[in-house]
Amino acid sequence: MDWTALEAEVERCTACALAPTRTRTVFGVGDRSARWLFVGEGPGAEEDQRGEPFVGQAGRLLDNMLASIGIARGNGVYIANIVKCRPPGNRNPEAAEAQACSAFLRRQIELVGPTLIVALGKIAATNLLGRDVPVGSLRGRVHDYRGVPLVVTYHPAYLLRNLPDKAKAWEDLCFAMDTMQALTASRSSEATAGAP
Ligand code: SF4
Repeated sequence: MDWTALEAEVERCTACALAPTRTRTVFGVGDRSARWLFVGEGPGAEEDQRGEPFVGQAGRLLDNMLASIGIARGNGVYIANIVKCRPPGNRNPEAAEAQACSAFLRRQIELVGPTLIVALGKIAATNLLGRDVPVGSLRGRVHDYRGVPLVVTYHPAYLLRNLPDKAKAWEDLCFAMDTMQALTASRSSEATAGAP
């Protein structure tokens, strides 16, 4: 399925309990051939109205996080969520809802082909890694999502409520940048070695 077909499929999807209460689906935004892919949990009220992930206060914090590593929304990064429809009352998506939506995100990741995925918060990490463990125990290591390296940090909405953890998020972004540099260097040396 290409981008156009995938977007249309998401727009008409009624596969889980979130469909009846959404205003609109929130597909994803950004550079569709980005090296970075950031994944959050699901749309909030403002995202549900606008159809774009990470708008509002948490979105502004995410934009600052992106700027700190030299990228910007629409330039070098693609942003998506585990579920494409807003969970009522901003509750966490349930496992069945995340499972129903997982094929859409999987296809988005295949189409983008990122060098590195950054999972934002426990819901994103749990669903991408298939393990229900605290964010704190996943930070600072490179994990794997279907062959794509993945690192974990806190969700911007969590950081707004827990300001002291912003320092840890900055450590995670530095780790992500170092990981990206190492991955890029190893790919370019592989390409050089394979050149005729
Ligand atoms: Fe479909 Fe995903 Fe929306 Fe559920 S959250 S209705 S699976 S698009």
